[in-house]
Amino acid sequence: MSEQVRVGRIFGIEVGFNWSLLVIFWLVAWTLAAGYLPQAAPGYTTVEYWVAGAAGAFLFFTSLLAHEMAHSLVARRHGVEVEGITLWLFGGIARLAGEPPAPSDELRISAVGPATSLVLGLGFGALSFVLAPWPAAAGAAWWLAFVNVALAVFNLLPAAPLDGGRVLHSILWHRHGDRLRATVSMCRSGRVAGWILVGSGLLEFAAGVYVGGIWFVFLGWFLHQAAASEEAASRLRASLSGHTVADIMTPGPDTGPGWVSVASFVDDTVMPRRHSTYPLRDRSGAIVGFVTLARLEAVPVRARHDTAVRDVGVPLEEAVVVGPAEPAEDAIARLSDHGDGRLLVMDGADLVGIVTPSDVARWMQMSALRPHGPASNPPAPAR
Ligand SMILES: [Zn+2]
Repeated sequence: MSEQVRVGRIFGIEVGFNWSLLVIFWLVAWTLAAGYLPQAAPGYTTVEYWVAGAAGAFLFFTSLLAHEMAHSLVARRHGVEVEGITLWLFGGIARLAGEPPAPSDELRISAVGPATSLVLGLGFGALSFVLAPWPAAAGAAWWLAFVNVALAVFNLLPAAPLDGGRVLHSILWHRHGDRLRATVSMCRSGRVAGWILVGSGLLEFAAGVYVGGIWFVFLGWFLHQAAASEEAASRLRASLSGHTVADIMTPGPDTGPGWVSVASFVDDTVMPRRHSTYPLRDRSGAIVGFVTLARLEAVPVRARHDTAVRDVGVPLEEAVVVGPAEPAEDAIARLSDHGDGRLLVMDGADLVGIVTPSDVARWMQMSALRPHGPASNPPAPAR
């Protein structure tokens, strides 16, 4: 979701939307203008239907925004920082920077979204009666009432990334006092709910309801993936807590000369070794960046003799540099800051280690092997 368009700040919270939203905006307006409204309120011109449809679509997204805004404002009041709100294909996402400090906070933050949608649904329902003399407007209001109530109900499914999943999480966390255990249960129910949606989508499809079927399969698959990745992320966070970068890094990594050609670097440095990342030195021995096998591979064979390794690597200024004593959790969060997903661990000007995706994968597996997680970094492999 990097293709974001900024809208501005509302109550001090950054609001943006993803390009996919324009497609959905058109789809919603079209559904109203060409499908729903001509049936619910016959006798208007095409232009009038499209005006009502566009207004309905606009209010639909305003409703989504209100739902996410409610989450964000309550989160902020409970001391959880809000990075911003993004509207996209599946509705909205309020990006919270931290986790709620207590189960009761989590309950309030997650329940207020569906509650807002429910209130909006009732409000639009009442409005549709007030607008009864204008059937097209009343029809649009009735449709908005329906989708807001549907949004509240759907979001209350007890499945991981949905609000209902968080409500379930806060209740389990409160009951057992164990956040990780609650997360694992919540993600499991998210995966099950995802499969149920996929299954019912396939059934619908078999019964000839093609669009609804595909939509369910799509949503179910999305739910399943989101639950699985959330579980992995929370297990990783739990296994890292209390550890430093020095515990998880590969200490004393092999470095290579940054000034030689890609051809001789491949022959003399890469081939005799078994690593995927090499920090690069200049002639004085100072670290100037790093190069990965993927970056070396991207150099055409013809150009390998005339290209310096340093020119295809990641320069030190662009690399993510962390200290060995930093909390591992914070450092891992920065792995995604850079496309190459590597951390250079520097103690002042000295390189003391690197962290690569395989270090993280190994750490996860070691944590799973030991009930209390690996105590510290294993000794450096013999060279
Ligand atoms: Zn929500």
